[in-house]
Amino acid sequence: MKQIKSKERGFASPLTIIVVLTSLVLVILLAAIGLTYKRWEGQAPEIAFDRDFKTLGRTAAIGLTISDPGNGLKQVTIRLKQGEQEVVLAGDAFDRSETTGTRSYEIGKLITEKQKIQPGPASLLINASDHSFRNFLRGNQAEIAKEFQFDLEPPRLELLPGQHYINQGGSESVVYRVSEDTEVSGVQVGPNFFPGFPLKSADANTRFALFAFRYDLPADTPVKVVARDAAGNETTAQPWQKVFPKQFRTRDIVLEDNFVQKVVPEVLSHTPSIQEQGELVKTFVEINSNLRRKNHETIANMSKESGGEFLWKDAFLQLSNSQVEAFFADRRTYLYEGKQVDQQDHVGFDLSVVRHYPIEAANDGKVILAEYFGIYGNTVLIDHGVGLISLYGHMSSIDVKPGQTVKKKDALGKSGETGLAGGDHLHFGLFLQGIPVNPTEWWDAKWIKDHVLDRLKPSSE
Ligand SMILES: [Zn+2]
Repeated sequence: MKQIKSKERGFASPLTIIVVLTSLVLVILLAAIGLTYKRWEGQAPEIAFDRDFKTLGRTAAIGLTISDPGNGLKQVTIRLKQGEQEVVLAGDAFDRSETTGTRSYEIGKLITEKQKIQPGPASLLINASDHSFRNFLRGNQAEIAKEFQFDLEPPRLELLPGQHYINQGGSESVVYRVSEDTEVSGVQVGPNFFPGFPLKSADANTRFALFAFRYDLPADTPVKVVARDAAGNETTAQPWQKVFPKQFRTRDIVLEDNFVQKVVPEVLSHTPSIQEQGELVKTFVEINSNLRRKNHETIANMSKESGGEFLWKDAFLQLSNSQVEAFFADRRTYLYEGKQVDQQDHVGFDLSVVRHYPIEAANDGKVILAEYFGIYGNTVLIDHGVGLISLYGHMSSIDVKPGQTVKKKDALGKSGETGLAGGDHLHFGLFLQGIPVNPTEWWDAKWIKDHVLDRLKPSSE
């Protein structure tokens, strides 16, 4: 009866009510999901070390980055486990309002702050979650466990006996032996590092390094041989050394209008990266300072590609019949209308013979650049191996190509006055791992024998 009554009163049937309610719930659900759909993404945070490692030392430089570009990080925990001990290195919780897309941790620093480490196996356990609604609102989870060894033992380093008489602005070589765990070794002279290479004529753990004592470093700058293992442990040793200070020349260069008018437009036309500075003389200074620096940086970068073998033999060649017009490391003060506008060091030799004189390769090697090269105009660079590069600048024409192997005295092209040159001459420069070195030593057969070749000879043991 009741059912009939309700029907009579115009009420909906129970079925209709269920349909309406279900639809309503669905609409609300869809609306809720629609409004919060971004919170339902399923991408877990990403955990990444800045490099792979199997060992860590006492002061390991290792970075960890955890990122979640979706909803941002909610929680990060970093634990270090060694034996029975477990230490929380970091336990962070982040509000959604914070901008926590990415967090970086210096693992090495956290370890030294929180834990007294023991040599041997250890593991880093890292987990992170984000502000997603997934996993019953707990967020997407990411977890990694990184197993490694704590290595607190620095590599062994033994210098082969030798006395090192070094000229300021000059070069030198050193031979040493390292233990097998050594990953990087070489010579540190002030801010400059010169990598060591295996010495082929000796056992597998013997290394040699050619290094330069930059002309503008104080004569008391220590020379240190360094050996580093994969864990970052370092051993250093100081060879017996005596550095001879050198007095370099100073020269005033008076900038004449016709010189500036000749060189500036030419360099600009070959170097789109240089901005005109309004007045020609200002653009000259921009070229003379910034382009000079960039050219030398390019050489330093190219020397990283140089292999560990000498491509050259015996003394380097000074351009035949040439007259020296300017010396290595001359300090040049540039004057315009009586005022100093710039000061730069001339890191090579200016050699002149006659106009369009054939330019000869100073020694055997491989051509790595043969084109217009900033302040040096038409230039050839030759890689002689072990980071030693020779430069031939201001040429009028170039007859070699990059990749070409050349022999000592081979013709590279003709002398000229391209780039920052006032007259026809060759600018000859030598760079060791990008550091300009005095060519006089490399032109001297006796110096090469005493300071390089004899040192690298197989020992009589
Ligand atoms: Zn020059």
